[in-house]
Amino acid sequence: MRIVIVGGVAAGMSAASRARRFDPQAEVVVFDRGREVSYGACGLPYVIGGQVDHFDKLIARTPEQLRGRGIAVRTGHEVTGIDASAATVTVADRASGRSVTEPYDRLLIATGVSPIRPDWASTPLGGVHVLRDIPDGQALEASLKGAKRACVVGGGYIGLELAEALRCRGLSVVLLERDPEVAGRMLDTGLQRQVRAELERNGVDVRCGVTVQGLTGQGRVSGVQTDRGLVRADVVVVAVGVKPNVALAKAAGARLGKTGAVAVNLKQETGVPGVYAAGDNAEALHRVTRRRVHIPLGLTANRMGRVAGVNMAGGDARFPGVVGTGIFKTFGLGVARTGLTQAQAEDLGLKATSVDVTSTDYAGYYSGAKPIHVRLTGEQRTGRLLGAQLIGQNHESVKRVDVVSTLLHSRGTAQQLFDADLAYAPPFSSVWDVLLVAADRLH
Ligand code: FAD
Repeated sequence: MRIVIVGGVAAGMSAASRARRFDPQAEVVVFDRGREVSYGACGLPYVIGGQVDHFDKLIARTPEQLRGRGIAVRTGHEVTGIDASAATVTVADRASGRSVTEPYDRLLIATGVSPIRPDWASTPLGGVHVLRDIPDGQALEASLKGAKRACVVGGGYIGLELAEALRCRGLSVVLLERDPEVAGRMLDTGLQRQVRAELERNGVDVRCGVTVQGLTGQGRVSGVQTDRGLVRADVVVVAVGVKPNVALAKAAGARLGKTGAVAVNLKQETGVPGVYAAGDNAEALHRVTRRRVHIPLGLTANRMGRVAGVNMAGGDARFPGVVGTGIFKTFGLGVARTGLTQAQAEDLGLKATSVDVTSTDYAGYYSGAKPIHVRLTGEQRTGRLLGAQLIGQNHESVKRVDVVSTLLHSRGTAQQLFDADLAYAPPFSSVWDVLLVAADRLH
């Protein structure tokens, strides 16, 4: 059994490890066009911000360590074609420029996503960056030397994390967002405003409803031209979203879903015999809406890869789906969400209602207790939980989102949340935790 994997980060490496463990006789070969494999891209903003002291700290296992575990990792090797009828891939060695054809019995496409670069960002000007992998991070780091003014374009979670990181490095930061508020797709409006206020309290100049038109500068960027005037900047980071890398899957004859990502079944099969897809390039089943979604996140990628690895090695595993759980920190605030916002539920035609509760994360009398805001959303007729959004001034307090996420997986109700026997002691929560208070008001 020869298992070939394209892409060696979260999905690809989880698949490789799992396949080796399931079938120790299988030959597992991983091709990645990059220099590093098996690293945590999620940590990149924290290296830039200085909370993690080196990019190398993000690497879980080096190619040598992986080879020691029986996984043949070939970095600097780009898969440029797939011939599904012959069950072969074409691989270009970036160093030598030579191409070879490699056979497979099972093939996993785990090629991830690429940052979207609008036309105005496709520029030879220095100081203009995206952040996807370690070389991107190193290039941004090098650009920061001597820089004083940064402009982050895009107010999604990566843009927000970067705005904070650049403030931590002492730069003045302007954050530009086309939508009326930051964190648009993740939160309802009231909570978006709280996030924006936190950014502003920490010196980020947030400008929403602004469209970027182009960049200025000679050799190196000097500003961002917008429909509301020029923003001067010597570093620009473009974080306006990602697109799944689907060219190989398409070439192999795999179907793309409505989201533009690769359509797969619960076994991560693409429908092309022997060809699987997993990770940020693939769609997933949303367990609340029962629709196929593209929500590229780390745990999802690892889990999809694990499922693909078992199945490619002859086992029988299924991906359970997602509920759209996400969490991030912006300065002093923790922000988390799961399921649907009120606006998303309404867009889907669901009759939804939301309650907002503000309380303290620990018992009010306990030292260090800070405010936490919960918005809980449910279906009016059935009481089924649809989603939750949390903002807390102790950022770890919003990990409570996992309680709601777990219930969403099993289509739980507000009553079931209210009935849950949650842990209580004053340094952790109030006796009636803020989630229970919200559930009580919702059901
Ligand atoms: P990727 O990590 O994109 O890996 C794909 C690999 O495939 C790449 O190494 C690429 O070089 C390789 N490849 C592509 N095409 C080819 C080819 N033709 N031939 C050979 N190799 C190829 N997620 C969270 O859940 N929480 C977070 O806090 C979080 N923060 C993030 C912060 C940043 C700055 C970024 C960039 C991402 C963050 N993510 C976060 C997302 C998370 O990192 C991804 O979901 C995860 O890395 C996806 O893994 P993947 O294996 O599917 O794809």
